Amino acid sequence: SKVKDMSAEVVDSNPYSRLMALQRMGIVANYERIREFSVAIVGIGGVGSVAAEMLTRCGVGRLLLYDYDKVELANMNRLFFRPEQVGMTKTDAAVQTLSDINPDVVLEAINLMNSPNGVGSELDLSYTLNITTVEGFETFMCSLKNKTFRPEKEGNGVDLVLSCVDNYEARMVVNQACNELNQTWMESGVSEDAVSGHIQLLIPGETACFACVPPLVVASGVDERTLKREGVCAASLPTTMGVVAGLLVQNTLKYLLKFGHVSRYLGYNALKDYFPTMEMKPNPQCPNAACLERQKEYILAKPAREAEAKAK
Ligand code: ATP
Ligand code: ZN
Repeated sequence: SKVKDMSAEVVDSNPYSRLMALQRMGIVANYERIREFSVAIVGIGGVGSVAAEMLTRCGVGRLLLYDYDKVELANMNRLFFRPEQVGMTKTDAAVQTLSDINPDVVLEAINLMNSPNGVGSELDLSYTLNITTVEGFETFMCSLKNKTFRPEKEGNGVDLVLSCVDNYEARMVVNQACNELNQTWMESGVSEDAVSGHIQLLIPGETACFACVPPLVVASGVDERTLKREGVCAASLPTTMGVVAGLLVQNTLKYLLKFGHVSRYLGYNALKDYFPTMEMKPNPQCPNAACLERQKEYILAKPAREAEAKAK
C-alpha cells in the first residue's frame, strides 16, 4: 500500500516525542537545539501572549517577557488570558500560565525591579517596564545582553527579539535597541480594523530597519495602519491575532532551527485571504545612526561572506 508504515514510531505521553518526530521525518536537522534558545517578547497582548504560549509548547529554552500593562476584562476577546487574572500584570499572569504548561521553560518577567537602580514597587504599576522611558530602555538593553542562561553563547544573551507591541513609538524603541546591539528581531502588527496584519524580519545592516522606510502603507493591498490613534477604539479579533502570532512563531522556528524559507516580510489580508511577501533593502540615508553603522559593517564583511558561501 501507499500508506507509509508509521507503526514503528511509538507515540508516548511525552509531548516532546511529537516535536522530535520533526527530526525523524527530516524537516528539522536538530530539534533539540530549541532548548538552547532565548527569545525576548516585547508586548504580551493579543499577539505576544499567543506567541509566548506557542514557543512554550515547542519547548523553547527561555522566554523574556516585557509589558507595562495589567490584564483587563476588555482583553477577553483575545486568546490566552483568563478572567481570574484580571488585575495581574500581563507578564506575571503569563508566567503563571506558561510555567503550568511547560515547567522546563525558563520564564523571566522583566520589570523595573530588574533595573540596575531597582526602582518601583510591587504595589502599583510603577514597577512594570515601559521600554520607551529612559529607565525602561536601560533595563530592556541590559536584559537582552545578559548571558547567564548560556554564558558560552556568542553575541547577545538572546537569539531573537519579537516585537508584539501596538504602537509606533514602542516599535521605534525596539528598533533602536536592536540596531545598537546588532540583534536580529521580528516585528508584527495587526491593523486597527482587525482584518490585516504582517510579520517582518529585521537583520541590522542586512535588511531595512524600522526607521529605513516609513511605515508600510498601501503595500500590495494590505492596510498597514500600525499607528495607534489616541482615543480610537480599535477593532480586534482573536482570529487575526492568532493567525499573525502563528505566522510569527512559524518564522521564528524556521529562523532558529534553520529549516524552510524564513520570510523577510509576510502580510495577511483576512478579507481576501491574500499573503503578500516582499524584501526591503536598508536605506543608505536612514535617519538612525546605529543602522548606518550596521550597514557599513555588513558591506565590509561582504568578501568574508562570499568566501564562506563558496566553501560550502
Ligand atoms: P487594546 O489597545 O486593543 O486595548 P492592548 O493594549 O492589549 O489592547 P495588543 O495589541 O493586544 O494591545 O498588545 C500590545 C501590547 O503591547 C499590550 O499588552 C501593551 O501593554 C504592550 N505595550 C505597548 N507599548 C509598550 C511599551 N512601550 N512598553 C511595554 N509594553 C508595551
Ligand atoms: Zn535603518
